[in-house]
Amino acid sequence: MPPKLRLSDEPGRIAALNRLCVLDTCREDQFDSITSLVGTVLNAPVAAVSLVDVNRQWFKSINGLAITETPRSLSFCDHTIRGGEPMNIADTRLDARFATNDLVTSEPFIRAYLGAPLTMNDGYNVGALCALDHRPRNFTSEQERILTKFARLVVDELELRHMADHDHLTGALTRRAFLERLGQLRREDDQRSVLAIFDLDHFKAVNDRFGHPVGDEVLSAVAQVCKSRLTRGDVFGRVGGEEFGLLLTEVSLVEAFTRIESMRVAIGRLSFAASEELTMTASFVLLELDEHSPSSAMAIADAALYSAKRSGRNQSVNAADLLVAA
Ligand code: GH3
Ligand code: MG
Ligand code: MG
Repeated sequence: MPPKLRLSDEPGRIAALNRLCVLDTCREDQFDSITSLVGTVLNAPVAAVSLVDVNRQWFKSINGLAITETPRSLSFCDHTIRGGEPMNIADTRLDARFATNDLVTSEPFIRAYLGAPLTMNDGYNVGALCALDHRPRNFTSEQERILTKFARLVVDELELRHMADHDHLTGALTRRAFLERLGQLRREDDQRSVLAIFDLDHFKAVNDRFGHPVGDEVLSAVAQVCKSRLTRGDVFGRVGGEEFGLLLTEVSLVEAFTRIESMRVAIGRLSFAASEELTMTASFVLLELDEHSPSSAMAIADAALYSAKRSGRNQSVNAADLLVAA
């Protein structure tokens, strides 16, 4: 059964796109193979997986053009995602919506367009798979069907990629995916970022006293507290059984402390149906990321976490302070 389309919920659509954690990631073979195949099968000089973000379209893969994004206002795919069907334009100069578009009047001189929406399983169109030509042409209905099938493959790849990178219980990134993001972050410009890791206090006692399923419920509720406080660009991962990591981007250490403290307090206020007596706390360490490699950052934070545990739990501490004191 095809998913029920959700075409008029733009904030929900953007949230669905952000959940995929795919924007601004590296090239990946599975998507490049699809755009390359689309180019060959449809005999189209350009084919792209376009993801339509708030103000831009970003290409997860593009075959035949050396660009990575365009403003959303120029995006043909932005029109495709407004429906559930492929959009087929034989001559862009004859279509009032596109005749004066910069991509038509100047390089790359788009003359013909065929795009199939990328409808995720939750019904949101996060982007489109498209084929472009520099000369007017009529893409046939058979080619529309072929492109729609390839679009389904792109959706499957996006869903698989998401499943492989996310922990099923909490929805957080897996440790591997989290460390990967940590590595990517460091290579990018010189924006200030803070790594925070936290570990639930005396969590084993929750399992022992209330059972493993209640322990799972606690993990999931704690993750929900964190996820609801993330802002764009932040990264959240489950780096161990009851240990989580947060990457806060473009923040000072002071700002990061304020945000982390609000999470710590909110975790302490959680209540659970299993028992009124069940409460949870967590110990946090924060580390300003500058010269650290991902593995050394995690090692420093881990050592500091151990100190935070020994010095009382249920607190947020600066790794630099703890390690100097040790
Ligand atoms: P501390 O304050 O020193 O961190 O004590 P702790 O009890 O939290 O730490 P410990 O490492 O002794 O125990 C962690 C427990 O977390 C043990 C393990 O069974 C439990 N755990 C790990 N993953 C899961 C999970 O997915 N579900 C549940 N329910 N428990 C888990
Ligand atoms: Mg613990
Ligand atoms: Mg632990």
